[in-house]
Amino acid sequence: MHLTLPPATAARLGPEGTARALAVRKQLAEAGIALPAWIDERPGRLQLVVGDLADDPPLSRSAEVLATEHGPWVLAGLLALRTAAAAPRAAFYVPDGAALGTLSRLVSGMAVEVHRALPSWPSQPERDIPGAFGRAWVASPAVLDRAAAALSGEPPRRVCTVAGGVRRPQAMCTAPGETVRDLVRRAGGALVADWVALCGGAPGGTLCARDEPPPAGTALVLVLSAAHPLVRQARRPLSEGLARARTACLGCRQCSDVCPEAARGTSLRPHHLVAQLAQGRADPALAEALLCTGCGACDLVCPAAVGPAGILRHLSARLASAGASPPRQPLRDHPARPAVRLPRDRLLQQLGLSQYR
Ligand code: SF4
Ligand code: SF4
Repeated sequence: MHLTLPPATAARLGPEGTARALAVRKQLAEAGIALPAWIDERPGRLQLVVGDLADDPPLSRSAEVLATEHGPWVLAGLLALRTAAAAPRAAFYVPDGAALGTLSRLVSGMAVEVHRALPSWPSQPERDIPGAFGRAWVASPAVLDRAAAALSGEPPRRVCTVAGGVRRPQAMCTAPGETVRDLVRRAGGALVADWVALCGGAPGGTLCARDEPPPAGTALVLVLSAAHPLVRQARRPLSEGLARARTACLGCRQCSDVCPEAARGTSLRPHHLVAQLAQGRADPALAEALLCTGCGACDLVCPAAVGPAGILRHLSARLASAGASPPRQPLRDHPARPAVRLPRDRLLQQLGLSQYR
């Protein structure tokens, strides 16, 4: 594996720093962690690497447990990413609570920042950390975990929460090959016989087979009755979603207003894609769908229950299997639009999950 740094970055780091950055890049690459392309294309633009520990879906405690019970581990992951990217700054973005206290104590005296996250969802650290917008590499807890594992040679912790209709909801370290059924058993078993697992939680999760492992990096296995509205929505075929888009979509653009990727300045506009698809526009013209992270925020605000996130998930899967890639996006210095934030304390009620609080 041949890796190089841009000449300007190598000159800034010097021979020793360059060798260290390349060595860490190699270890990360072997673990499947790639740096965003813009970091090397635009030397000097990257200002900080952010470990985002505030993006747990409702009912998940995975990031909190990773931070509180494996603090040095998650810090090692963040420092590895900073070294590989040659970032001047490193920061954690953490919700109020035990994780904030643990990480603040851990980094005391170190050149690592800890920022308190706003109690809103999805998290948007680029907006809330000074100097971060358009200049940050934001890493999820799963990437921090894999980065720490790549450097230490130990297996990743793979913390996953099993919650919802189970007897003992909990966050647990998982082993490769453990199936959804194994994890539900470790959480005391399901409360109903017709249980179904939404991997990734809600909104935005996908249905998983009981006897398959959850997808890599799953933070939450949400166990629900098959009759739960979230399960019915996840099972809705594309044709039904498009029929609803044709007959019920108000064109209100609330889905695009709340979309964190649109707010970052990308060209993703779910209202536009949904309208184009509903009118039968061909897939290749809609490659912006590949910018969608599947967070599901658009589903939560849609007043007509069109389900834009599900429609985009179908579209992205088709585009990806056809070999399409997302269109290149310009890097912006300032947000293109104001952020619409959803208060976390209302999410459970809105999702019909209050009983599992
Ligand atoms: S699911 Fe996709 S389109 Fe919807 S808000 Fe999230 S990133 Fe935007
Ligand atoms: S929020 Fe719903 S109704 Fe409004 S434009 Fe988006 S899909 Fe249509």
